[in-house]
Amino acid sequence: MSLSCEQQRINGKYYLCMPDNFQYPRNLLHRVCKNLVVLEDIFTRNLTAYGTIRVNNCSFDKRVFVHYTIDQWKTFSVLNAHYIMHYADNNTDLFQFKLTVPKDKLLSSSSLKMSFAICYCVNGGKFWDNNYSQNYNLEIIESSREVPTSILNQLSRKKSIIRDDQLYKQITQDYHAISNTTQQIENLCGLKNLGGTCYMNSILQSLSLTSLLTNYFLYNQDSLVFKGIIINEYLNFLYLIRCGQYSIITPAPLKQIIGHINYAYLENQQQDAHEFLILLLDYLHIDLNRTQCIDEEIDYNLFGQINKNSIIVDLFYGIYKSTITCLQCMHTSSSYESFVCLTLPIPSTNQCTLQDCLQSLNEDEYLTDDDSKWFCSKCQCHSNAKKRLEIHKLPKILIIQFKRFQMNSEMRWIKDESLVLYPEDNLDLHQYSSSPSSEQALYTLYSVVNHNGSLNDGHYTTFSRDLSYDQPQWFEYDDEIAKYLDLDRLHLNPKAYLLFYTIQHVPE
Ligand SMILES: [Zn+2]
Repeated sequence: MSLSCEQQRINGKYYLCMPDNFQYPRNLLHRVCKNLVVLEDIFTRNLTAYGTIRVNNCSFDKRVFVHYTIDQWKTFSVLNAHYIMHYADNNTDLFQFKLTVPKDKLLSSSSLKMSFAICYCVNGGKFWDNNYSQNYNLEIIESSREVPTSILNQLSRKKSIIRDDQLYKQITQDYHAISNTTQQIENLCGLKNLGGTCYMNSILQSLSLTSLLTNYFLYNQDSLVFKGIIINEYLNFLYLIRCGQYSIITPAPLKQIIGHINYAYLENQQQDAHEFLILLLDYLHIDLNRTQCIDEEIDYNLFGQINKNSIIVDLFYGIYKSTITCLQCMHTSSSYESFVCLTLPIPSTNQCTLQDCLQSLNEDEYLTDDDSKWFCSKCQCHSNAKKRLEIHKLPKILIIQFKRFQMNSEMRWIKDESLVLYPEDNLDLHQYSSSPSSEQALYTLYSVVNHNGSLNDGHYTTFSRDLSYDQPQWFEYDDEIAKYLDLDRLHLNPKAYLLFYTIQHVPE
């Protein structure tokens, strides 16, 4: 039985493509300064286009829309877009939009082209920017072959990168990949700051150097089919940062895709690097979940409700065991809880060691206040109790966060800049673990995320080494700059905020 035209269309695989003659408007700054709007950047993923518009912010009464059509403006839709106020130094705002061609529109239209126009209202007047009366057009291509889900397979066959591969070219353009600047050392790749995004850069550098995770992608990719948009974009990013051909890339596509799931990250403003790390690991876990149903749409809000079965859980998740003992009858009760990061208080205001910080884990907490007393099921009453925390299962990748930010008695956030001395190799955690398999719990440091400056005016940098080399060298990454690191700065580092350790011996 032959399929009707409509059925073929709905069953077909389509993706949006930038046409060869696609032109960004010229004289970007000149145009935006005349009360106008300018398309600054655009990239496509499957049937979705992500764009960035720069807008002059001198007018208070100003709204921006994106109108789009796939039937040559016989009808059009107004984009339900997300508008970002950008309080930067250059008097312009950024407006970010996401256009997805609805599948049902493909059915009703004979055109396989999506057009869009940027519209803005200033003081009641409405203006359309069609790129000098030419609409911005994107082609809708029916894929004859399966669009590769990732370009990472080219990394494992480094020598045979296919130069004219369409996807490869598209991804390097999307990330504005620049090769061989004079600053580049040792094939390292820096990350451009998009405006307050050093928190993201410091985490992406650390995560890309997590060998156990990167190797999992490299060596299992033939058997892995990823359908989540975050994992696919992370793999695009991973390819570019690790292929050794580029000295600077601009991680805007990854940021924008994450930002359209969680709007806080669309904005160009400072965020906490630790919060971003946890969010990114959550999203990757959802995409890499082994029990997910292949045909189901991925819902990124479901975290915590889905099965904890992914490479992210295997590598990054540890388990705490919390034991409460009744001080009257000595009856005990234990509970278990997973963690992705050990958050440690700094016991000294001057100088201490990481082991001093870890000691706090084993300290008994006494539950003797009236409102903290524990209900003992044996005594059948609220009784005085003590609570002890142990690590039941150590993670293979151990992330430690120092509690450097605390609210003082005047309800103001203050930063603790104490020096914590941490070991590079042989961090031994077996004494903090209740698990018998932890006898050889030795860890090696491979990345440090530093927080410089104050809470409101801070800057993140990274010290990292690539443990896949025999004698790995330490480097410092400061956004797009990568340079050799003086080891004194690694060893005496009051800026250290997050430590990334990997296990030396992997227990089965
Ligand atoms: Zn009791």
